Amino acid sequence: MRYLDTAATTPVRREVLEAMWPFLTGEFGNPSSRHGLGDVASRALERARADVAAAVGARPAEIVLTSGGTEADNLAVKGLALANPRGRHLVTTRIEHPAVLEACDHLVRLHGFRRDLLDVDGDGVVDLTQAERLIGAETTLVSVMLANNEVGTVQPVAEVAALARARGALVHTDAVQAVGSVVVDPTQLGVDALSLSGHKVGAPKGSGALWVRRGVPLEPLIHGGGQERGLRSGTENVAAAVGLAAAITSAVGSTPGGPRPRGPVEALAAARDAFVHDVLSAAPGAFLTGHPRRRLPGHASFCFPGTSGEAVLLGLEQDHGIACSSGSACAAGSDEPSEVLLALGIDPEVARTAVRFTAASPADFEGAAGAVVTAVRAVRSLAG
Ligand code: PLP
Repeated sequence: MRYLDTAATTPVRREVLEAMWPFLTGEFGNPSSRHGLGDVASRALERARADVAAAVGARPAEIVLTSGGTEADNLAVKGLALANPRGRHLVTTRIEHPAVLEACDHLVRLHGFRRDLLDVDGDGVVDLTQAERLIGAETTLVSVMLANNEVGTVQPVAEVAALARARGALVHTDAVQAVGSVVVDPTQLGVDALSLSGHKVGAPKGSGALWVRRGVPLEPLIHGGGQERGLRSGTENVAAAVGLAAAITSAVGSTPGGPRPRGPVEALAAARDAFVHDVLSAAPGAFLTGHPRRRLPGHASFCFPGTSGEAVLLGLEQDHGIACSSGSACAAGSDEPSEVLLALGIDPEVARTAVRFTAASPADFEGAAGAVVTAVRAVRSLAG
């Protein structure tokens, strides 16, 4: 099978599993226990925290370990807004992950917040003029993702953050898809909080972290024994933390100039561009969704008018052994066209023809275009 769905998830890397193994077996202690086993676990947890922090150029005390990107987004949005309510005004974008959008909705429904959604242009880039107009003295929090999962567009987060900071608002970015692909440096971005997830870069599902700038108040969502400096109670998942640290460290290198993706980013983007070119030149009417250049290096997403994205996906799996995604896997099972594609101004019928191909290595894209074009033709000939 050719796996072209790394934006949905990735397998646990061997070295990550090896790093985790001791903490699932012999070194199984609870980090809060006072005996030797507890000590070993506690030291491993703190080493993992320090490694995650180093990978984003931050301090260990700024990292809250979570059960993944969804929890990190919820903790950022609800935790920052409840601890610093200001004028109870939230600003986010139409193309955020549901973890951010639903967390905002929760604050609107139960805590008296207002929420404004920023539009994006046809390439999925957030509207800075509108941001300038909407972010004001009342604004509590602005949340803009660093890279979009469905269309791969990388957002001008530093520009939005500068606008927000000038008006005294806090800024969060969801960097779940960006880690290992673009520079993820909260200081350079000028944000106050940044979400990470492990399973997009070779750590297990259910691992993640929220970076929160030192000194910024955060209200916990999970109450209990006071772990994670009282910000996230519950016995820590030491193995997941160790896995997250190992995976993020191998995806991101700390260089004197700050964190940098370690992988073959240019080669990956070149292989992706060749794949996109080959698909578009042989599949009439097909078009790329998202920004043609300001996009994640391993991300190619298309609409194939005259097909159904689901049918192309099934054909690719059955006839060509290719695993990809029709729109976002997180919204899979729903027949509704993707809100993200609608926000880009794509017609709802055309949005139903979306297929996404995402890869971590240039070889994954090589030679795949022919199969995609054949699958698209097969669906079109059945439909027509
Ligand atoms: N944010 C983005 C942009 C994502 O793509 C995802 C997952 O696909 C998440 C958040 C949720 O992360 P997790 O699956 O770790 O809960």
